[in-house]
Amino acid sequence: RNAETALYGAKRRGLNQVALYRSIATPDDDRRVHIELELRRALQRDELSVVYQPQVSLPTGELHGAEALMRWNSATLGAVSPDTFIPVAEDTGLIGEMGRWVIETACRQLAEWTRRGWELTVSVNISMSQFGDDGFVGHLERTLATTGIDPHLLVLEITESIASRVDIAVARLHQLRELGVQIAIDDFGTGYSSLQYLRDFPLDYLKIDRGFVSQSTHHARDRDLVATIAQLARNFGLRTVAEGVESQAEVDLLTDLGADLAQGYHFSRPLDPESFEAWVEAHLA
Ligand code: C2E
Ligand code: CA
Ligand code: CA
Ligand code: CA
Repeated sequence: RNAETALYGAKRRGLNQVALYRSIATPDDDRRVHIELELRRALQRDELSVVYQPQVSLPTGELHGAEALMRWNSATLGAVSPDTFIPVAEDTGLIGEMGRWVIETACRQLAEWTRRGWELTVSVNISMSQFGDDGFVGHLERTLATTGIDPHLLVLEITESIASRVDIAVARLHQLRELGVQIAIDDFGTGYSSLQYLRDFPLDYLKIDRGFVSQSTHHARDRDLVATIAQLARNFGLRTVAEGVESQAEVDLLTDLGADLAQGYHFSRPLDPESFEAWVEAHLA
């Protein structure tokens, strides 16, 4: 009974502590408010940029494409990680404007690389709220027209979380397909109803989450999972991209397991456009 009483006491204290934390602003809240304020000015102040991470074909190591990733170097906060500022941008609706800017920047970059005679895809991450916005398809269509890129070289990366309304998502994905762009499912296997999406969504690529890839050389279960995802993708006529590849051992295993493409620090970190171009030149040489 003493133990029970002690537990009860601890629980009560726990509850009180929760209530206490909720009622006062924590440093985390302060930082979030600060991030939000600064993010509102980031575009105007020219603090956002896009970096590009190479994606290579697995058996050959040839360059296949690049994933565009947003960077924010804030005058007051310094470099802020996307894992921190993207959720804030999504919650505040700022992602709409930021997302349009990333699409325009990536398409202009792709047009420039095409003019150089390089054939590569550029993948852009699309947030759920961006994808659901009524103006999304129209903006994309205008951007394709003004930059003149081959739409097939643009890949939109969406996550499984877009599909709270599967019917609406399917209709929108078909609209995007009609524009000629390709679709990738990002972080595959980490969301819900993955299999339903495979059945219902018009897709081109399936990205195997870094979490599975990084464990695949150590744990049989992760290796089997990667093999199963690669097989599943093949059955559905999709290509797989292994994310977060950090070692030659992973490259060898992923190649064996039948993954088609890979990206990760083993090949290159995300690079600013100039460094990306130098990487490609060195890679082609
Ligand atoms: P993601 O789309 O899954 O992007 C892959 C993340 O893994 C990137 O982090 C990339 O830098 C990192 N990465 C790549 N290779 C390796 C590796 O070998 N090892 C490790 N440990 N990490 C690797 P990043 O750039 O910090 O982006 C984080 C997330 O933020 C992205 O995850 C994506 O969900 C989101 N994000 C980034 N840029 C954008 C954007 O322009 N729009 C939207 N909506 N989301 C974005
Ligand atoms: Ca991605
Ligand atoms: Ca991913
Ligand atoms: Ca992710």
